[in-house]
Amino acid sequence: MPYILALDEGTTSARAALYDAEGRRLAMESEPIHAAYPQPGWVEQDPEQIWEAQLAAARRVLEVSGVAASEVAAIGITNQRETTIVWERSSGRAVAPAIVWQCRRTADYCAELAASARAAEITERTGLVVDAYFSASKIRWILEHTPDARARAEAGELAFGNVDTWLVWKLTGGRVHVTDPSNASRTMLMNLASGDWDETLLEWFGVPRAMLPRIMPSSAVVGVAEAGWFGAEIPISGIAGDQQAALAGQACFRAGLSKNTYGTGCFALLHTGDVRPVSSNRLLATRAASTDARAQFAIEGSVFIAGAAIQWLRDQLGLIATAAESEALAQSVPDTAGVYLVPAFVGLGAPHWDSTARGILTGLTRAAGRAHIVRAALESIAYQTRDLIAAMEADAGRALSELRVDGGAAANDFLMQFQADILDRPIVRPADTETTALGAAFLAGLAVGFFKSVEQVESFWRVDRVFEPRMTASHREQLLAGWREAVARCRWRAGN
Ligand code: ADP
Repeated sequence: MPYILALDEGTTSARAALYDAEGRRLAMESEPIHAAYPQPGWVEQDPEQIWEAQLAAARRVLEVSGVAASEVAAIGITNQRETTIVWERSSGRAVAPAIVWQCRRTADYCAELAASARAAEITERTGLVVDAYFSASKIRWILEHTPDARARAEAGELAFGNVDTWLVWKLTGGRVHVTDPSNASRTMLMNLASGDWDETLLEWFGVPRAMLPRIMPSSAVVGVAEAGWFGAEIPISGIAGDQQAALAGQACFRAGLSKNTYGTGCFALLHTGDVRPVSSNRLLATRAASTDARAQFAIEGSVFIAGAAIQWLRDQLGLIATAAESEALAQSVPDTAGVYLVPAFVGLGAPHWDSTARGILTGLTRAAGRAHIVRAALESIAYQTRDLIAAMEADAGRALSELRVDGGAAANDFLMQFQADILDRPIVRPADTETTALGAAFLAGLAVGFFKSVEQVESFWRVDRVFEPRMTASHREQLLAGWREAVARCRWRAGN
């Protein structure tokens, strides 16, 4: 059987891709995922629409490629993380809309919890910082706002799942209720060290154990997709949350390897092998998707506004017509003429953690023009990434040898070269930047012997371009000093 089918269920689209035995992508198909915003800060999705979109994308990719289900060795699943679905086991019907990871409806509850004595204990047990982002408070919300839900959950009538679990349930006709450690580690209910649900946390969040899926390895056969969906049964043998799948798709299976995704925001993960990281910079400790039953860990951090700063130049300021245009404009000037943009539009994340900070454009003189501001916006993505990576390196107690990159803005050569210069590490861009789906395919293929070994999978990962640092240390220090000053200026509100 020559192919692996990867299902990549994201926040805005469900995609499906086919890979051959050399890890090459044959085709990819996509279906939109709709979201509803019933109140300010609330984000919901329809669990049935998520499933139907994912099924449609998968059927289409098989059809357009002329591949029969009998030619597919296995299915791998990767998904938007933390998004919470609760359904009735008997009918398979969701009892409430999916509460999407971005939804802030439980923010007040989480703020109270974060200020309590329990917060440190929660971080100790889960590796996470208390926030509405994670699934636990979302499950609690559904149990409190749905008639009879808590009693029914306790009686084992209701099931909880993130989107991976929901899709496996649907594909197996309700026979299999499982997740993997990379997804479970984002619920705030899993003990990061043991890899099992944590009784104390279940009690604190009021989540009955009876509704939780079984945690299975990320690369293992967990069930079989029913023949009715694609025309023949297909084993399901890989599950990972999107960022951990991207880490796998970047062939980062060992301690010290890292990737950064340049999308709307940035998501950086550093693999720490079998060492459970403890952060002194409020970065997250999480499970990586392991290729066997051993526990593997990673440090994770994010930049809130990255590519979004380029969207802002385009949509709010009208300085550019397309995001891609930013590259030539930035290169049309030798430097920013002293201009810095700190895009703290929603505050600053790691390592500053200042929610009151706001964006600032500083160092303006009469010489500053459009190109300088555009260049400053691109450079701000690299500076923020540099601050984040420096914090990760400090937490891990080791320096990165290189940073592997993907995401929409990783296509920008100016940004990648400046990133290499300011980070003083090589930046490596792979040929296939659809790393999320590729990671799911790797995990699924390894479990069924379609791919022979981790070494073989590592050999499939192909480099498009390496950006070597070439800036002098003194120039870098000078630029970083200016950045630090700009960051300090955007934090005036809190008197920091
Ligand atoms: P997401 O998955 O978060 O939607 P993508 O990985 O699709 O993001 O990347 C889109 C983001 O990258 C947008 O914010 C866009 O402004 C930015 N972007 C896309 N192409 C470029 C480019 N050539 N240069 C700089 N930024 C870009």
